[in-house]
Amino acid sequence: PMEPWYIGGPVVKGFGRGSKVLGIPTANLPPENISGLLSEHTSGVYFGWAGLSSRGIYKMVMSIGWNPYFNNTEKTVEPWLLHEFDDDFYGEELRLVVVGYIRPEANFPSLESLIQRIHQDGRIAEKALELPIYAGYKDDPYLKNSL
Ligand code: ADP
Ligand code: MG
Repeated sequence: PMEPWYIGGPVVKGFGRGSKVLGIPTANLPPENISGLLSEHTSGVYFGWAGLSSRGIYKMVMSIGWNPYFNNTEKTVEPWLLHEFDDDFYGEELRLVVVGYIRPEANFPSLESLIQRIHQDGRIAEKALELPIYAGYKDDPYLKNSL
């Protein structure tokens, strides 16, 4: 298993197309908070726990990379919280403990196949986070610091 990584900060605006195009909103952190993570870690899909100030702790699946489907010129971190929220949470403190790796970054022939794969990643994350080696991080004080 990998060493967990800890990142956090206020949720900022991203490209504004996560929820609109994909139906999969991703909460973005300030670039300066994630620059270390981006340079140190390989592109791909990861999972972990997310703490959102004043709301709670949620399962999370996250991509790090260039989003080949969209031909991004910037590497990004895109966490999707596996929970249905009634409203947006821009400006709220988001804390992430990233505990596991699912797969490398890949390109997809269609938007539909990309969306299907992300939903599959979500199901993998949901199940993996129930395993004893990952479940305990739910109680990590870093996540609760902001609550
Ligand atoms: P942006 O380009 O600003 O990141 P998105 O379309 O990716 O826009 O939507 C992300 C925003 O949606 C988050 O900043 C957050 O406020 C909100 N949001 C609502 N539900 C979720 C969720 N389950 N996971 C992540 N963000 C969510
Ligand atoms: Mg986003």
